[in-house]
Amino acid sequence: MLAYKKSIILCFLLLIVASRGFWITPVTANTPMHEAMMKKQKKVSLIIDDFGNNMSGTEEILNLPIPLTVAVMPFLPSTKKDAEMAYQKKHDVIVHMPMEPMRGKKSWLGPGAITSDLSDDEVRKRIHAAIDDVPHAIGMNNHMGSKITQNKRIMRIILEVCKERGLIYIDSKTSYRSIVGELAYEMKVPYMENQVFLDDIDTSSHISKQLKLVSEKAKQEGKCVAIGHVGKGGKIVAKEISSFIPEMEKYGEFVPASQMVTKVAQPTQK
Ligand SMILES: [Zn+2]
Repeated sequence: MLAYKKSIILCFLLLIVASRGFWITPVTANTPMHEAMMKKQKKVSLIIDDFGNNMSGTEEILNLPIPLTVAVMPFLPSTKKDAEMAYQKKHDVIVHMPMEPMRGKKSWLGPGAITSDLSDDEVRKRIHAAIDDVPHAIGMNNHMGSKITQNKRIMRIILEVCKERGLIYIDSKTSYRSIVGELAYEMKVPYMENQVFLDDIDTSSHISKQLKLVSEKAKQEGKCVAIGHVGKGGKIVAKEISSFIPEMEKYGEFVPASQMVTKVAQPTQK
């Protein structure tokens, strides 16, 4: 009789355990578990271009409390100072390599620029020299460059040197005809590309609109890469990014380029 009672109690207990297992709360929207999963998945990488020439907004950008990727132009008055400061503040440093655009003056390019009339050897020499000039560089992106990023001969040399020196390449995407993505894939160079220019118009309202676009893309695609600039609108860029941080951190995190880059580049969709 006692054994019979015991087995009934045991069955009852098993039933409770089983039903609890069955009714475990599913991961639905707005539960803390769901929020944590969402947060883990979304990544935003912000690259800020045009450092190296004592530009307006330099300090404001470098003092932002998130990891950024700081693109420093070589051979300019504050190249070394800006790269050192960015490194100390734990941002990623990359070389912001001046490259010839389809339109515009060569004088906008700055020293050591890559132009389509250069020989293979000269391109190689200039890329090595630029990397040597920017301390702590872990990668490279292009300043302007709508013409060069369509030039297979030159981009192949640039990517070869990046690979040799262990640098990643980030296409600023100043031309939709750029061939850098497919070449990086073929050459197995770690690669990523810009998706949103934050400050093509440097007003608060435009920059904040672009940051909303960044967050929408990150939510939809899981990640987003965007480019802003120091210079005329540099302080506004810093202020707008600063107000965007709390919103973004609700569902994602800011990562420097080294944590966003695909180790083996994927072919780009056109
Ligand atoms: Zn630039």
